[in-house]
Amino acid sequence: MNKEEQLGELKKKINQNSKNFPGKNLVFSDGSCLSEVMIIGEAPGQMEDKMKIPFVGRAGKLLDKMLESINLNRKKCYITNVVNFRPEENRKPTLHEILIFRPLLFNHIEIIMPKKILLLGATAAHAVLNHDGPLHLVRGIWKKVDINKNYFNVLTTFHPAYLLRQPNAKKIAWKDLLELKKKFE
Ligand code: URA
Repeated sequence: MNKEEQLGELKKKINQNSKNFPGKNLVFSDGSCLSEVMIIGEAPGQMEDKMKIPFVGRAGKLLDKMLESINLNRKKCYITNVVNFRPEENRKPTLHEILIFRPLLFNHIEIIMPKKILLLGATAAHAVLNHDGPLHLVRGIWKKVDINKNYFNVLTTFHPAYLLRQPNAKKIAWKDLLELKKKFE
């Protein structure tokens, strides 16, 4: 199966987990499945659910600026979320949801086979690094994640929605982005 076919199969599997998100659309991904950079957020919001594209709301506009600052854009990356349906009232995904979606996300990562993964915020760090402590303990640090003996380079930074609330943290996030750019240059 080629990548597109594998992604099609994954979509079907993800759709089998839509029961707890009645009336919500599948928000699968954006960008190029051939990209070396995979970006993983938390879960879609209202705008993302409507457009069926990740990161198209306010946080998404900031993500676009963050990518621009290191000469990237959403077409050159591959963007997805831990949870692919919008949780009611924009609540954070529950632990139960993270655990349900984690194997699907790992499957997603194995299909894309990115050289670098950027995690946005605590939910992504929880799902991918199995880290549910304070974000600062993993932020800005490259980690290797083993998925079925494939090792992925993973960097964590702040979620753009957090940066909208705490603009002082942007300086640190921009440092993380330079770190992402530098790897393998
Ligand atoms: N926040 C996320 O984590 N993902 C989106 O797609 C939009 C906002």
